[in-house]
Amino acid sequence: MKKKILPIAGITSMVVLIAVQIFIIGQIWQQKNELFLLNNRQLSQQAITFYDTEYRINGFETALDLLDDYSQGITLKDEKLFRKEDNKQLSNTAVLKEVNKLISSQQELSGLLTKYFRSHSADGNIKSFIDISNFDLLDFNLSYNLYNRTDQDVPPPVKGLIHVNRFKMESNYYRITFDYYIDITDKREILFREMSISFVLSTLSILIVLFIFLMAYRYLMEEKRLSDLKTDFINNMTHELKTPLSTITVASKTLELDQIIDDRDKIISMARMIGKQSLNLNHLINLILEISIWERTEFEADFKQVEVGPMLEEIVECFRAGYKEDTEIKSNIALEGVTIKADITYFTTMINNLLSNAVKFSRDNCKIMVNAKTDGSNILISITDNGIGISKSDQRHIFDKFYRVSHGDLHKTKGLGLGLYYVSRIAAAHNGTVELVSQPGKGSTFTVIIPIQQS
Ligand code: ADP
Repeated sequence: MKKKILPIAGITSMVVLIAVQIFIIGQIWQQKNELFLLNNRQLSQQAITFYDTEYRINGFETALDLLDDYSQGITLKDEKLFRKEDNKQLSNTAVLKEVNKLISSQQELSGLLTKYFRSHSADGNIKSFIDISNFDLLDFNLSYNLYNRTDQDVPPPVKGLIHVNRFKMESNYYRITFDYYIDITDKREILFREMSISFVLSTLSILIVLFIFLMAYRYLMEEKRLSDLKTDFINNMTHELKTPLSTITVASKTLELDQIIDDRDKIISMARMIGKQSLNLNHLINLILEISIWERTEFEADFKQVEVGPMLEEIVECFRAGYKEDTEIKSNIALEGVTIKADITYFTTMINNLLSNAVKFSRDNCKIMVNAKTDGSNILISITDNGIGISKSDQRHIFDKFYRVSHGDLHKTKGLGLGLYYVSRIAAAHNGTVELVSQPGKGSTFTVIIPIQQS
């Protein structure tokens, strides 16, 4: 449960951070939008006052003149509407629609506003809207109210429109009250432009926090992995040390028994067992000591020019001699006359580690093949087994210090997770590398590649 707290807390705080940023940006956007509408409303009203005082125009002159002609063309017979020329009856809405169309198409105010806005360094594409709230047709002493909306306030017919002014006009043939609205069609682009710095800064801050979080998370995961490895190593080491120790304890206790004291053969056998287990212990302790020395100092090797073919043959032969019949170790070593600079002890340890792993991680009917050849500039030694194989995810860490593939039962196979680490270190000391090709259930091939000419 504890393990999951960190990622959950991290992800939650990231989500909260992003939500807060979105909220703040949203608030700024809203304020900017309101300010934008207010500024443009003020500017358009200033423009109207300006044109009225300077030029005595309101921008609707042409439209309203034409509307007079249009209204004159309609007669009011018993309050039914007719077109004078063709006597065709008209509906109220049809008339109102015509009036709106006429004013909208003939108004000059949007052009004047654009000019005024530009001269005040405010840009934006202006689109006009006319909203008629009252329209009367007049004919001498006759008056016909065609449309009347009683609202006194001026709600925008479409959200986001700017109310510029309410106009009331009267002429010979009509009386009209309408509201003039404008829409800045590129408002979004203008606001985006104004807010680009806020957008960039907040995105950048989110990305920086995300990056720091991921780095910290990776670092913690790596720390955890190393600490798990150390715990595993200590468990494995305890197990490895306990086996020879308990054998020695039992053997020494046996030596004290009366019936043994006179049995010379048994005493010798016990002494040999104690000796063998002490050697085992010594080997283990050396292994652990070696690693701490390697950590602190450079890899110290005693390089000599050696003919690698016969050396390899001998290593394989010695190894083969120590194994039972059902382990088949074949070799094909084609390295006649090839010499390299090598530390014989380390080189032997490297090949032995690979061979013993091949045996250790194989099932019954174990078959191992050692191939060695040269490509002209390198020697390539590959050890192939038909064992349990290694999954892709484990292959990434297989050469790490203390790394062991978890097989459920940690102590099923002996080991400290140092064998392959040594192999890679020894190969590197010879300026070489180790490659692995493996398939779970099918087997593995470890290939050591060492350059013939070493610098
Ligand atoms: P150890 O053998 O002490 O566990 P190694 O470093 O030699 O440590 O190997 C690390 C792990 O790699 C082993 O625990 C084993 O799971 C896996 N491994 C190594 N060689 C082989 C192999 N030939 N086939 C399958 N798994 C292997």
